[in-house]
Amino acid sequence: MYGTPRSETAWKVPSCIFEPSDSTALADAVKIISSNNITFAVRSGGHSPFSNWANVDGGVLISLSAINAISYNPTDETVRVGTGNQWGQVYGKLAEYDRVVVGGRVPDVGFGLLTGGGLSHHSSLYGFAADNVIIYEVVLSNGTEKTVSRASDPEHFWALKAGGTNFGIISYVTLKAFPQGKVWGGVIFYSIEYLDQIMAAIAEYQAVGQLDPRSAILPYVAFNNFNSIFISFSYLDAVERPEVFNNFYRIPSLLDDTKIHNNFSASISEVVDKVYPRWTWGSTTFYLDNSTYVQVARLCQNISRTDEFQAIQGATLVLVPQPVSRAMVQRSVASGEHPMNLRDREQIWFSINLGWQYASDDARMEQFVVDTLSSIEKLTKSKGLFDEYVFFNNAHTTQDPLRRYGQNAFRKMKRISRTVDPAQIYQSRLAGGFKLGGS
Ligand SMILES: Cc1cc2nc3c(=O)[nH]c(=O)nc-3n(C[C@H](O)[C@H](O)[C@H](O)COP(=O)(O)OP(=O)(O)OC[C@H]3O[C@@H](n4cnc5c(N)ncnc54)[C@H](O)[C@@H]3O)c2cc1C
Repeated sequence: MYGTPRSETAWKVPSCIFEPSDSTALADAVKIISSNNITFAVRSGGHSPFSNWANVDGGVLISLSAINAISYNPTDETVRVGTGNQWGQVYGKLAEYDRVVVGGRVPDVGFGLLTGGGLSHHSSLYGFAADNVIIYEVVLSNGTEKTVSRASDPEHFWALKAGGTNFGIISYVTLKAFPQGKVWGGVIFYSIEYLDQIMAAIAEYQAVGQLDPRSAILPYVAFNNFNSIFISFSYLDAVERPEVFNNFYRIPSLLDDTKIHNNFSASISEVVDKVYPRWTWGSTTFYLDNSTYVQVARLCQNISRTDEFQAIQGATLVLVPQPVSRAMVQRSVASGEHPMNLRDREQIWFSINLGWQYASDDARMEQFVVDTLSSIEKLTKSKGLFDEYVFFNNAHTTQDPLRRYGQNAFRKMKRISRTVDPAQIYQSRLAGGFKLGGS
């Protein structure tokens, strides 16, 4: 059933909402839209906070929520999934077979995640989510249905792995499934007074603990309104308090709900609080360095303490420092090509989420993202730790993640886009998403 976008910044009033129940109905809709000069948007899980990305004023909104089949094939260990599902629904279904797929770390995220690569708790074991797509079923802008695999069209397959909405609307994907038994995990809460220790622990974990590919963390450091730190831990085996996280256990905690769960599905939860109705985000990448992790967090805390920030009703700055291991990069490269062009080095995809109350503050908060990222990048560049790559799934609208994959990848994507979308309808009339631009 069609739902509301998670952030009020993405609320719009479409003229028409269409919910296709399969690829053919989706293709029919795209054919009509394409030949009638209509602006449209596509929504899966509705997690993008950006205006016009998965919503549109006065145009057609295609909600994929009714394309929600999940069929597991035990013979070849694959699962065909409709992109109207949320990842939690897929994990829940696969738990019946003691299997898992590589996908979102929060249950209610949708399949837009795949269009930006997709960072998962299983990435150190199996690469990014998109690395584990075997078949894409897409609808092209002329309303044609196309099945894309590495064998059938290697270039289109490559571009779909992290090229956003530029290469087709994905109706179904066939994903590799992996055995998954019991999992240790949950959330530990800390006081913000341990900020330095937590940032150092993240760096130490990344240098040592993360070498165990069964381990993963998703930290949130919230300034201003929540003033607390909460870390979602995951260990993909039935091991109580795995030693890879020892640096974190040494820091006094406020609350700890970690335990062994029967399956992965039960181990992940909605850890981002929804108390602020509007939010935005942006991201930057830099290399592993203990003191820089601490410094960047301090820099952000200082921004959250400025009068300008404090003056905004509900203003909250949440850091999401996502440690990316070399194993993730190497497994990703080994499992097939994609345009992301990642450096074979421990790095952090350092995202900042900003929440607030009123629409009248939208422009100011978007500017805070730009200014905060610029301050962080000034620091990381001065230390020689900056990396050009920006995590597509947390990139701000002013960033250009596709161009930041590198010139060769960008040019190749543009060429493929002209082949699969000769009229460039997904560039001009599909609302939102990072585009490839003109000539
Ligand atoms: C709470 C939370 C947790 C998150 N966790 C993770 C995580 O663990 N890993 C990670 O990598 N990212 C994560 N993200 C980021 C998330 O992957 C992106 O925001 C993603 O775009 C959300 O997809 P969606 O389907 O929910 O969103 P939507 O808002 O529905 O879509 C986002 C964009 O993708 C396009 N799109 C959606 N479905 C399709 C499709 N089938 N075909 C073509 N285009 C499509 C839409 O048109 C839109 O431009 C998280 C975000 C939030 C808010």
